Amino acid sequence: MDIYGSLANIVGEQYVSNQPEENFLYSRDAGAQIPRRVDYVVLPKTVEEVQQVLMLANETKTPVTPMGGGMSLSALVVPTKGGIVLDMKRMDQIIEVNEANRYALIEAGVSQGALKAYLERHHPRLQHSTPEAPPTVTVVGNALIQGHGHISPRYGINSDMINAMEVVLPTGEVCKIGSASMSPHWFTRGPVPDLAGLFIGWFGTTGVVTKLSIKLYPKPKYREVLAFVTDDVDVIPEAIFEVSQVDLVEDFFLISQGKPDWMNRIFFVIIVAGHSEEELEFKKDAYKNVFSEFQGGKTVAFVEDLHPALRDRFLAVPPLAALAADFKKGGGFEYTGSIIPIDKVPEAWIKGIEIARKYDMVFSYVHQVLGGHSIMFSYNYSFNRADEADAERTRQALEESNKLTLDIDGMIWKGEVSAQRMTMEKMDPNTAGLIKKIKSVLDPNGIMNPGNWEIV
Ligand SMILES: Cc1cc2nc3c(=O)[nH]c(=O)nc-3n(C[C@H](O)[C@H](O)[C@H](O)COP(=O)(O)OP(=O)(O)OC[C@H]3O[C@@H](n4cnc5c(N)ncnc54)[C@H](O)[C@@H]3O)c2cc1C
Repeated sequence: MDIYGSLANIVGEQYVSNQPEENFLYSRDAGAQIPRRVDYVVLPKTVEEVQQVLMLANETKTPVTPMGGGMSLSALVVPTKGGIVLDMKRMDQIIEVNEANRYALIEAGVSQGALKAYLERHHPRLQHSTPEAPPTVTVVGNALIQGHGHISPRYGINSDMINAMEVVLPTGEVCKIGSASMSPHWFTRGPVPDLAGLFIGWFGTTGVVTKLSIKLYPKPKYREVLAFVTDDVDVIPEAIFEVSQVDLVEDFFLISQGKPDWMNRIFFVIIVAGHSEEELEFKKDAYKNVFSEFQGGKTVAFVEDLHPALRDRFLAVPPLAALAADFKKGGGFEYTGSIIPIDKVPEAWIKGIEIARKYDMVFSYVHQVLGGHSIMFSYNYSFNRADEADAERTRQALEESNKLTLDIDGMIWKGEVSAQRMTMEKMDPNTAGLIKKIKSVLDPNGIMNPGNWEIV
C-alpha cells in the first residue's frame, strides 16, 4: 500500500512528509538520547483525521508516535521502530473556558504559552498549573506524563487536574472519558469507572488524546517569595514537614547548585499568594516563623536579602529556577525527574552530587515539593550538544541517577526507554503483566509508540 499517498489523502499533501530533512528534525529531541529513525511526519487538524490515520496505521501495522511539544527530554516522542510521528500542533483550539465550573476545554496541540496568554486576556481571575518548561510544550502532553506546575504544591500534580478527555483508540474508535461521555459539561472524571487512567502515564501507547478538560484555579492578585537557607542536608525532611503543616503555600521548591559558590547551599523557596495585601502579609508572617524551632540550632535561616534578580526569577510564572543550562557551551540541558519519598531526600541529595562529580558535571538541583506527600527530585545536567563524548557522559549520569532513584525506593518520572525497562523489571510481575494485558486489548497490533512500557 502507498502509505504516503494515503496519509496525504487524509491530512492534505502539505501536512505529511517523508522527506529526509523533516524526518531528521523529528528523529531527535532536545535531550541527550541518540537519534532514531522516522518514516513519516503527519500533522492532523481534526479528530476525524486522527481517526483515519490510526485506522490506516492499524491496517498496515505502521507504528504511530503521538507528539505534543516534544520537550520531555527523554526521547518519548522519537519512535523506537520508525513509522509515523503524529505531531498534534495544528489541533490548537481553546474550545471553551467555563468560568462557573472552572475548567478549560482544549485540543491536544494547545501550548502552555497559548493557554496562559488566553486566560490572562479573557479570564484574568483564573489560572492553570504551568510547568517550568518552554512555553511551546503542550498542556495535554504535560498532563499525560503526570507533570507538575507552579501551583502543584498546593493543588496536586497536573494529571490530577484532568476532568475529562476525548481519545482516539488505536483501532479508530473515538471515546469520551469522564463527564464528557454523557454531558456537555466536561467538569469531572467521576463518579464512573476512572478510564482516564488508561491514558495517563502511558506515553501514547494506548491511544491519542484529542481533547482534554483541565481544571482552572483562582489567580491571586499578590504573590511574594520567601527563601530560607541551610547547609544541613539531614534537616530537609523535617523542614518540609513544617512548611507543609502551615499549608498556605502556592509553590514550594528546593534549589541548589555547585556554581557559583553562594548557590552551593540548600535553599527552600516558598511562594505565597493572596487576594489582598493583608492576606499576603498574614501568610508571609506564618512562614517567616515556621523554622523558629531550627533557628536556635542555626540550621535553617530566613534569607533577608534575597537578590532582586532571583526574586523576579522565582516569582515568574512559571518560575525560572533551573539555571543549569548555562554551565557549559553547546546549549544541551537534560534532567531525569524522580518522584521520591520525602524522607529519602538527604540520601538522594548526597549521592546525586557524587554522580555529578563522577561524570564531570556541575551538580544542579530544583526539587518541587508535591503537597507534602512526595517530592519531584530532579538531577539536572548541562552538556555540550556538539560534543558526543559529553552527550554520552550525560546519558551515563542519567542512567546512574535512575538506578539511584530505584535503589532509594523512588520512581523514575518520564523515563526514557531504558529507564522504563528498569522500572518494569523492578515492578511486581503481576502489575507488569496487567500493563501488557491492557495494552494488547487496546492496541492489538502494537502500533502505538512501541518500545515504550515493554519488557524485552
Ligand atoms: C527547562 C525545562 C524545564 C521543565 N520543567 C518542567 C516542569 O516544571 N514540570 C513538568 O511537568 N515538566 C517540565 N519539563 C518537562 C517537559 O518539557 C514538560 O513536562 C512538557 O510539558 C511535556 O509536554 P510536551 O508537550 O513537550 O510532551 P511531549 O514530549 O510531546 O509528549 C510526552 C509524552 O506524551 C505523549 N503524548 C503527547 N501528546 C499526546 C496525545 N495527544 N495523546 C497521547 N499521547 C500524547 C507522547 O507520545 C510522549 O510519550 C521541563 C522541560 C525543560 C526542557
